[in-house]
Amino acid sequence: MDLGVEGMWKRAQELMPGGVNSPVRSFRSVGGKPFFVDRGQGPFLFDTEGRRYIDYVLSWGALILGHAHASVVEALNRQVRLGTSYGTPTPGEVELAERLVRMVPSVDMVRLVNSGTEATMSALRLARAVTNREYVLKFSGGYHGHSDSFLVSSGSGVATLSLPDSPGVPKSTAALTLVLPFNNIDLLRELFKNNGSQISSVFVEPVMGNSGLILPEEGFLDELRALTTEHGSLLVFDEVMTGFRVARGGAEERFGVKPDLVTLGKVIGGGLPVGAFGGSRELMEKIAPAGDVYQAGTLSGNPLATAAGNAQLAYLQENDPFADLESAAKNLSSGIVEILKGGGISAWGTSVGSMWGIFFTDSPVRSFEEAKATDQENFTKFHKACLRKGVFFAPSAFEAGFVSTEHTEEIIDETLEVVRVVVSEGW
Ligand SMILES: *Cc1c(COP(=O)(O)O)cnc(C)c1O
Repeated sequence: MDLGVEGMWKRAQELMPGGVNSPVRSFRSVGGKPFFVDRGQGPFLFDTEGRRYIDYVLSWGALILGHAHASVVEALNRQVRLGTSYGTPTPGEVELAERLVRMVPSVDMVRLVNSGTEATMSALRLARAVTNREYVLKFSGGYHGHSDSFLVSSGSGVATLSLPDSPGVPKSTAALTLVLPFNNIDLLRELFKNNGSQISSVFVEPVMGNSGLILPEEGFLDELRALTTEHGSLLVFDEVMTGFRVARGGAEERFGVKPDLVTLGKVIGGGLPVGAFGGSRELMEKIAPAGDVYQAGTLSGNPLATAAGNAQLAYLQENDPFADLESAAKNLSSGIVEILKGGGISAWGTSVGSMWGIFFTDSPVRSFEEAKATDQENFTKFHKACLRKGVFFAPSAFEAGFVSTEHTEEIIDETLEVVRVVVSEGW
């Protein structure tokens, strides 16, 4: 079917809402239309017209080894001949569970699911069941998937499309979701003092990646740990994005704060649909069929998905590329900021592990409220100009950027050269 790009995009919009299967892919917040991908290789995407892009989206963080990494391709090739799904236990599930338990400190037991959304939705059910409380606290701009309970002040996709909340979420459900700004310890203490005994759990992206990249300030995660313990609430780190990116063992390892439950996704699937949630044996044994908190999935622990996930995690365990990833992200973020500032453009950036971010502003960004006050018009112009020159940054001012093991020094330098040209030519 050769419709050409214009024809394809037109047809896509006739066949699928907004032309896409996930809103942020539509490029609505930066204008214009998305490109259609033909293939990915290493740090590159190639579109259907043969244009090459250096990719900093990396399937929204999943591809920490880049596109079509040999070890992942080989694992998938091996598995696909043996069948795609059985609906019975497989060794691959045990292997993936074993890796997650080994790598993530607070996890003794896991349940594999098919997406990050499923992981957080199920973890919340578990938290409500064990505490016998209904309220949940999240932070504005924190994204925990698209289930009803979490679609309240939820960052990038929603913020970008300016849906303050979504139609279709029952008021009674949304009313059980409490929201505070990130990094505000005073408000947190006040809320727990007044309502602590009703809060089942606090869900937090320990490093916010769906409002742009926002780091926790010194003491914030510790205070969350202390308050939840004191009031009998569970602390849930949503590490769907930060898992295996912020550090080998995730944000909990990097910041030394141990949550009660962890949700995972993205990297653990190597580009296939996987999510997981885990925690102590005592909590996880409440999940059916060991316990009575129901959770299930026809394709959960799918053999192709576990093959890809195992291959990607095995590479990380054996090759320990975390220091290189960290310096690539740091050099990119600080390089871009330096070039922008040199061109008289306000910019501020940060990085942690293999995640990085920039905002068009003079001052540090500590919350979604501050992120929203940055110059999004400049971001849009920057995004467009870089894309025209073959560098693909996420099409929203409220997304973290990523690097993979394929983003070598030369790739970072090539990117910075593009940024230099874009800034010197003006946009
Ligand atoms: C991506 C993401 C999710 C949702 O995962 P899906 O696989 O898209 O459902 C949840 N939480 C965080 C922190 C994420 O970044």
